[in-house]
Amino acid sequence: MSIPPTAGTVVVHGGAGASLDHEDGCVLAARRALAQLEANGDALDAAISAVTALEDDGRFNAGSGSVLCLDGATIEMDASIMDTRGRLGAVACVRSVKNPVRLARAIADTPHWLLAGEGAQRFARTIGMADSAPASDHQRAAHRKLMTELAGSVPVMPGVTNQLFERFWNYKTPLQLPPGTACDTVGAVVRGPDGHFAVACSTGGSAPSLLGRVGDGPIIGSGFYAGPEGAVAASGIGEHIVRHLLAHTVYGWIAGGMPLQDALRRGVELFDPDITIGLIAVSRHEAGSCSNRTMPTSRMTQR
Ligand code: ASP
Repeated sequence: MSIPPTAGTVVVHGGAGASLDHEDGCVLAARRALAQLEANGDALDAAISAVTALEDDGRFNAGSGSVLCLDGATIEMDASIMDTRGRLGAVACVRSVKNPVRLARAIADTPHWLLAGEGAQRFARTIGMADSAPASDHQRAAHRKLMTELAGSVPVMPGVTNQLFERFWNYKTPLQLPPGTACDTVGAVVRGPDGHFAVACSTGGSAPSLLGRVGDGPIIGSGFYAGPEGAVAASGIGEHIVRHLLAHTVYGWIAGGMPLQDALRRGVELFDPDITIGLIAVSRHEAGSCSNRTMPTSRMTQR
């Protein structure tokens, strides 16, 4: 898609592997981003508005919809933001925060770029950030389904036997099987009308995972990247994404002049088809998405 040089543009995704039935949530999120661009023209504020809407939706694996960890109780979330005005913030393994993407934005104003675990949580309390709500029926049902799959012989995580999660179990409570995998980072990339770029991502992480697991979502250059020629956000299995520094690799191709859709396709094709992968990106004149699974998206440009 070719975009006029002075029009703000947003692309939003609801996670590689997520149901297209949820695309209305992405449309709403993209509208929020455009409304924010109308309000102050700031690409980062727009990306955060979109991701906040997806975190609050409850159907995506982020914020209120985050997957429950294997103990059926803990929720650990990652989020990140970056723009071409120099703002960079991320949070890893944070619990009980309603909007991790807003926490990542607040961390960008501290002397650091990434806070994790208890420190991130205490920081959230210090700045008066809202707590997350108790787990919903949707989250509990997703957890029951995962536990059933984990008890079976088909690997829930490609290339990893299900028994490994039992062998390395590090939760306080014992594993109980059975009582799909979940991935689905949400993300947004924005080009502001002034030519600045921004990206924001948020995830409840991939499931199954051990306690303390951090994916690509809060890792600069892997799950997200923004530079003078565009912004890229990734979704899929973080353990594979980080090995390719995927967001920065794709950004490099776009910055080098490769058509955006070709760069996204090439990024997805770096991976074995068993590995769930999705990408969105925006550049000076193009915007798009690509995934090897269903991936709800929405793309909008200011008139
Ligand atoms: N990339 C995320 C993670 O590995 C999950 C996802 O995007 O589906 O934490």
